Amino acid sequence: TKPQHREEGRSVDQMDEKLRPQTLAEVVGQRSVAERLSIALEASKKRGEPLPHILFDGPPGLGKTTFATVLHNELGVELNMTSGPALDKKMDVMPYLTNAVEGSILFIDEIHRLPKTVEEFIYPVMEDFRVDVVLGEGISARTINLPLKKFTIIGATTRSGMLSGPLRDRFHMHEHLEFYDIDDLARIVAINADKLRTTITPDAAWELARRSRGTPRLANARLRWVRDYATARADGHIVLSIARDALDMQEVDSEGMDKQDRRYLETLIQVFRGGPSGAEALAATMNLAIDTLTDEVEPYLLRRHFIVRTPRGRRATPAAYRHLGLPEPVSEAP
Ligand code: ADP
Repeated sequence: TKPQHREEGRSVDQMDEKLRPQTLAEVVGQRSVAERLSIALEASKKRGEPLPHILFDGPPGLGKTTFATVLHNELGVELNMTSGPALDKKMDVMPYLTNAVEGSILFIDEIHRLPKTVEEFIYPVMEDFRVDVVLGEGISARTINLPLKKFTIIGATTRSGMLSGPLRDRFHMHEHLEFYDIDDLARIVAINADKLRTTITPDAAWELARRSRGTPRLANARLRWVRDYATARADGHIVLSIARDALDMQEVDSEGMDKQDRRYLETLIQVFRGGPSGAEALAATMNLAIDTLTDEVEPYLLRRHFIVRTPRGRRATPAAYRHLGLPEPVSEAP
């Protein structure tokens, strides 16, 4: 169960599968992450050992699942996918552990949502490939030590801060994914237009990239919309004016912000007078799940310095007022 994007839901995930890079060479951007992973890959191949356990963190849609898929393709090993919320009890995780073959990969999405009991249950798995199973009950209960095959756990999280220290420490590699720059996103748009058998001019690809919040998944979704628009309103060829009109129609503004981003800024500025405001209060006022607010909306606004985090909560910056065309407040003493 992958988190769906708030804009276009499930269908995007299916399209994402089609557009997902399959090899490390096809991965665009995230150069330093890709280089470290290629070292790990090579070492693992040369020694004939499984990859180290790897933790990916970063906002949704930046390539955590993609990297796991690529590693599995490069090694030619089995990949099993699950997620924190799906592993409610120890017994839910057990089949993944006992069925794991030598060198295979178990991908756990949203690993910060693993229940504590399950988390503790996998500590010995990650350390030395064994699980402690309790057989029987009460006075006749005994613990047996079940050895497992050596395999790799790849965890993905949008909130590395929510991971417990002991779990975090059991990952040998920690890779943080950052938002993509416009050049990299434009490259992804051009490659994916090709995969979708659509033609796009370089300036249109750039425009799409500029307005996709640094996020490949969004660039893919917006590309698909622009492609539909080009087919419906023109000859299917994506040129700059078509890309602009299509994105305007979707209410994606010149900075790539969508309605929800703007509503966040408006709420912070108009209801909370620019802040500081706590995330809970903002989420409640916007009638939005707190996770959506903190994991999907805020990271890009923070990155663009439209908001800042202070010990007392979120504050809108002058850039946010300017972006919304609102008068900036007269600054008070800090
Ligand atoms: P996450 O797991 O971080 O939420 P995904 O790995 O599912 O994100 O990425 C979403 C989509 O974005 C992928 O299906 C792929 O099409 C595209 N994508 C992500 N990262 C890259 C990349 N580095 N190069 C090319 N495309 C990418």
